[in-house]
Amino acid sequence: MYDPFLAICAAGLGAILGSFLNALSFRFNTGQGMGGRSHCMRCGHTLAAIDLVPIFSWLFLFGRCRYCKTRISAQYPLVEVLAAGLSVGVYVLHPTPLAYAVSLLVWLTILFIVVYDMRHTVIPWSCSGTLVLLSLATIALAWPPSFAALYAGPLLALPLFLLSLVSMGRWMGWGDSAFEISLGWLLGLSAGFTALLVAVWSGALVGILLMLFSSIPWKSGGKRFTMKNEIPFAPFLAFGAFLVYFFHVNFFSSLSLF
Ligand SMILES: [Zn+2]
Repeated sequence: MYDPFLAICAAGLGAILGSFLNALSFRFNTGQGMGGRSHCMRCGHTLAAIDLVPIFSWLFLFGRCRYCKTRISAQYPLVEVLAAGLSVGVYVLHPTPLAYAVSLLVWLTILFIVVYDMRHTVIPWSCSGTLVLLSLATIALAWPPSFAALYAGPLLALPLFLLSLVSMGRWMGWGDSAFEISLGWLLGLSAGFTALLVAVWSGALVGILLMLFSSIPWKSGGKRFTMKNEIPFAPFLAFGAFLVYFFHVNFFSSLSLF
């Protein structure tokens, strides 16, 4: 049974960690360290504590810098809200401290991969590597590890890996297979396969909608969208995994085969 007070604490912790993920997503691989005080990316003004309250600062400032009135990306509050929600969801599923901590790290790493993939259409190897280790840790926590849980990862990643192989990484990025190995380990075979199907269907649906409306909304400049454009696939894989993990969606739960 979970405690409502601890659930509120989990939301607060998630929002703070989401704020850290935002900073990391803007500084990762840019040569800027994580040290130094936060400042406005436009006017360079150092931000005060009141400008840095997760979610609320952005709302109270109507999404603009207090000093130069430049618009602040909606990514900031969005990632903070998502991280807060994930933290509460993880707490409800795993109220014990160790399982909560490992599972929260898993979901924050997935959130970071999604944000990074949407900005750069690439998944950094350091992130997929971290997720591989974390998902193996979740299998170890459910001791003794089942054989099925171990082969679910490579088996579910195989179709993505083959797509990358025949297209030399054009249809499917190599990082997506690495990401899918972790999701397979995290979810197991039948739930993991459900998540993969949800990812493929939702990805296809969004791809068709983008072709109809011909522009990629989060890439400014309104570039025309064609079959040649790359859609980041990690957000769809993460969406499928999210439905399966938190809402126990499973198309194959009645099949004893899986
Ligand atoms: Zn500013």
